[in-house]
Amino acid sequence: MTRHTDVVVVGGGQAGLAAGYHLRRQGLDFAVLDADPEPGGSWRYMWDSLRLFSPAEHSSLPGRLMPARPCGTYPGAGHVVAYLSDYEKRYDLPVQHGTRVDAVCRDGDGLVVETDTGTWRARAVISATGTWSRPFVPAVPGRGRFTGRQLHTVSYRCPADFAIPGDRSARRSVIVVGGGNSGAQIAADLALDGGVQVTWVTRRPPRFLPDDIDGRALFDVATARRRALEQGRGDTGGVASLGDIVAVPPVRAARDAGRLSAKPMFTRLTATGARWADGGHTCADAIVWCTGFRPALAHLAPLDLRGPRGHIATAGTRALGEPRLHLLGYGDWTGPASATLIGVGRAARDAARDIALLLSD
Ligand code: FAD
Repeated sequence: MTRHTDVVVVGGGQAGLAAGYHLRRQGLDFAVLDADPEPGGSWRYMWDSLRLFSPAEHSSLPGRLMPARPCGTYPGAGHVVAYLSDYEKRYDLPVQHGTRVDAVCRDGDGLVVETDTGTWRARAVISATGTWSRPFVPAVPGRGRFTGRQLHTVSYRCPADFAIPGDRSARRSVIVVGGGNSGAQIAADLALDGGVQVTWVTRRPPRFLPDDIDGRALFDVATARRRALEQGRGDTGGVASLGDIVAVPPVRAARDAGRLSAKPMFTRLTATGARWADGGHTCADAIVWCTGFRPALAHLAPLDLRGPRGHIATAGTRALGEPRLHLLGYGDWTGPASATLIGVGRAARDAARDIALLLSD
């Protein structure tokens, strides 16, 4: 049996929920299909000590403020999961958890959405599947030869995972690769624990934002950049011009204690560790790749829209090659700061308005 609706939203993380909020305001009928069995999107899988790079009240979806943390401390991932679960319930969003979308195909004047629990037919689709399911690890010489443990950000939990059983004095050696927020936070987590010998490696010297600047500024800067580009005033450089790493308290603590200094990228991996440009060698038990993600767009393959770097060309959130498809939340290429809690609301509002206009024709 095929079910019918105006709009299918693929993915029920923060981007899918923000889309639901605005589709409801437009008076459209819709369903949100989410592969995960429970609410929270990728926040359910983040490491134990992760801290948001903005205070709670600056990390909110449309309509409802995220509850503040005591003394304005930055929330952890569990707080976001609780907020998203409550958001879904409070707005009674029709999220069908445990439904994976396999394919979106054109069919006459509609789009057919094939899932592992049946078929939907919609007049428009919003894809909000995030990037978490597509961790990226760069091709590095010797990577296949390294015999220790290799893991990506998505599998990192806590320093205790690297402890040597039965020996509290021995320290594992771990190399953390990546100069972004994940790399800095995980390197700090390991360095502050004291049970791990950590070597932090970045392709270029790490660029910390000034200590008094957090994620709030990232949203403002992304917005200012979009305005400047729209008004033909040239590229202001956007978020990247500020720096790469928000100095959240644990990162600051590790940096100020002198435990967070980065080394330039190694030239190759060996069976037992990393070889440096000067010929030196560091033995390692494990490597944590904090090297980013790619958009999870496999379900859109039948639409044949993929361009360079696996992205789909968009005008705002709308796919250029398919006006009934919108992409939400993957990164700045689908709207300024649309891959953040505070930024996705505006992109979701624009997508819902655009779809309402299209369907009213
Ligand atoms: P996700 O949260 O990944 O949700 C996507 C949902 O789609 C999932 O539930 C998934 O199961 C589902 N899905 C995927 N494929 C399918 C399919 N084929 N069919 C059906 N369902 C599917 N942002 C901030 O604002 N503040 C921060 O401090 C912050 N810190 C971050 C720290 C890290 C380490 C990372 C990685 C990101 C951080 N972000 C932060 C960025 C951003 O908020 C997250 O990436 C956010 O989770 C993206 O939300 P999303 O809804 O787009 O994707």
